Amino acid sequence: AVNTRTPFIAGNWKMNLDHLQAVATVQKLHWTLKDAGHEGDGVEVGVFPPFTDIRSVQTLIDADKIPFALGSQDVSAHDSGAFTGEVSGAFLSKLGVTYAIIGHSERREYHSESDELVNAKVKAALKHGLVPVICVGETAEDLEKFGASAVPVGQLEKALDGVSASADIVIAYEPVWAIGSGQAATPTQAQEVCAVLRAVVGRVLDEDAAARTRVLYGGSVKSSNIASYMREPDIDGALVGGASLVVDEFAAIVRFQ
Ligand code: PGA
Repeated sequence: AVNTRTPFIAGNWKMNLDHLQAVATVQKLHWTLKDAGHEGDGVEVGVFPPFTDIRSVQTLIDADKIPFALGSQDVSAHDSGAFTGEVSGAFLSKLGVTYAIIGHSERREYHSESDELVNAKVKAALKHGLVPVICVGETAEDLEKFGASAVPVGQLEKALDGVSASADIVIAYEPVWAIGSGQAATPTQAQEVCAVLRAVVGRVLDEDAAARTRVLYGGSVKSSNIASYMREPDIDGALVGGASLVVDEFAAIVRFQ
C-alpha cells in the first residue's frame, strides 16, 4: 500500500507561554519557516497552546493566513453544563481548533485519567468535529514487566471502543520514560510499537482507517533525531514537547527532510 499520509509535526506546549508569548512565538515560527521556504511544503504543522492562548493564536492565524493547525491539550468528555473548570469541544471547534490531545501521560498521571475517561473524551471530541490526538505509552516499569507494546495496545483498544471506522483520528505513541527525559526511544523501538498500534487501528476500526491514520512518535524529539524517526514506515510525525518552545529548534524539526 502506498503511504499517502501527510507528515504531522505537532508542538505540545504544555503549561508554557502566556497569550502574549504565544502570539510572539507563532509569529516568529511563521516567519522562520517562510524565510526558509519551508511553509506549507507537505508537512502539517500544529501548535497546541494552553486554553487561555487559543483565542489569541486563532486570531493571529486567521489574520495573517498562517498555515498552522491549532489544537488544544485536553477536552471535556461533556458537552456543556455544571462541570466547573472544563472546556467543551463545542467551544473549541467554534474557535477554529482542529485537534485535541487526549490522554497525555501527564493527564493520566496527575489527573488520574482512566482509559474510560479517555474513551469518553475521544467520543466527545469527534462529536464536536475535533480530531483527537490519542496519546498512549508505557512507563519504565511497564516496559520492564510487559515489554513495550502491551500497555499502549490496551490503552488504544479502550480509547477506540465504540469509535466509528470513518473517524478522523491521530495516534501519538509516547513512552512515558522518554518524555522530557532526553532519553528518546530508538527509531527501531518506536517503529515497532507504532506498527503494532497501526495494526490495532486495523483490527478495531478497519484497514482503511489503519492506512490513513497518522501515528506519531513523542518523547525527547529534537532536530537532531527527527529525521531518523521520519524514515520509519509507520511513523508519520512527532508530538514535540520541550523542543516546541524554542522557535529555531521547532522550525528545524519541521524541516526534517
Ligand atoms: P518532550 O515531551 O518532547 O518534552 O519529551 C513530549 C510530550 O510530552 O508530548
